[in-house]
Amino acid sequence: MAQRPYVGRLAPSPTGDLHQGIARTFLAAWLDARAHAGRLLLRIEDLDGPRTVEGAAERIEEDLAWLGLDWDGRSPAQSTRDKAYGRAVEALGARTYPCTCTRREVWAASAPHADGDEAPRYPELCRPSTPGKNGSLHPERPAALRFRTEPGEQVAVRDRRRGDRVDDVHAHPGDFVLRRRDGLWAYQLAVTVDDLESGVSCVVRGEDLWDSAPRQALLRRLLAPEAQPLEWLHLPLALGEDGARLSKRNGARPIREERAQGVSAAELRGRLAAELGLWPHAEPAELDALVEAWRIKLRG
Ligand code: GLU
Ligand code: ZN
Repeated sequence: MAQRPYVGRLAPSPTGDLHQGIARTFLAAWLDARAHAGRLLLRIEDLDGPRTVEGAAERIEEDLAWLGLDWDGRSPAQSTRDKAYGRAVEALGARTYPCTCTRREVWAASAPHADGDEAPRYPELCRPSTPGKNGSLHPERPAALRFRTEPGEQVAVRDRRRGDRVDDVHAHPGDFVLRRRDGLWAYQLAVTVDDLESGVSCVVRGEDLWDSAPRQALLRRLLAPEAQPLEWLHLPLALGEDGARLSKRNGARPIREERAQGVSAAELRGRLAAELGLWPHAEPAELDALVEAWRIKLRG
């Protein structure tokens, strides 16, 4: 268990209504913070302006409150954090470089090694041989900003469920984007800066983000060498009937739909807690009892 003060966060992306898959992860994050007598912050991750749905943040907050999940303060919404992200990129200095490659150029330069839908390792077309120089191939185009990984640089991540991992980020995934060509800040940079500045110490989130933890840990170390590493808990994702991550596409039901049909908050909590392996048979669950169940799980 963490020795330092526990500060966690709920970090919804306001791209639609809260559904049971995300609600389950949020319930776990809330329980973990409460079982540690910690603080929990709410952060609206409206980084991606074009994907942000008008009013979704307010609706998510309302659904969380209905479920009984409260928070102790806020970490500012990402759409207000332009200056902070700009400062971070400046602080990274020669560890960044402009990249003018299009997606098509990256794929073309990576074939035939790249396969599937996963983005290939960036083939370093614009990476300057001398750090800090501009090596972009098409200086007339708008540039993305990439992080310059270094060979042999090891990053350790400690996760309470998945265990420890040590990554060579240069080998995988290679130089990654901090700011896109269209000017949007990359998720990797934004969450790292936000977690640092709001004093987050423990992150509970879905396992889909497990592979981005090493990049975030590396940025954190460079931006704040004195800060303690984050403690992570990546949880299995709720799956849809097709076996893919549960989302609107494969049948995730918005919490408000359940509410409208008369499902009570205690019933829904019981169902989510049963999915987390915390609670028998999806019976209605009061929050106090769930916190106690989570505590027992922590001790075990
Ligand atoms: N906003 C992200 C999501 O909703 C979570 C980011 C994180 O927890 O680091 O999937
Ligand atoms: Zn490039």
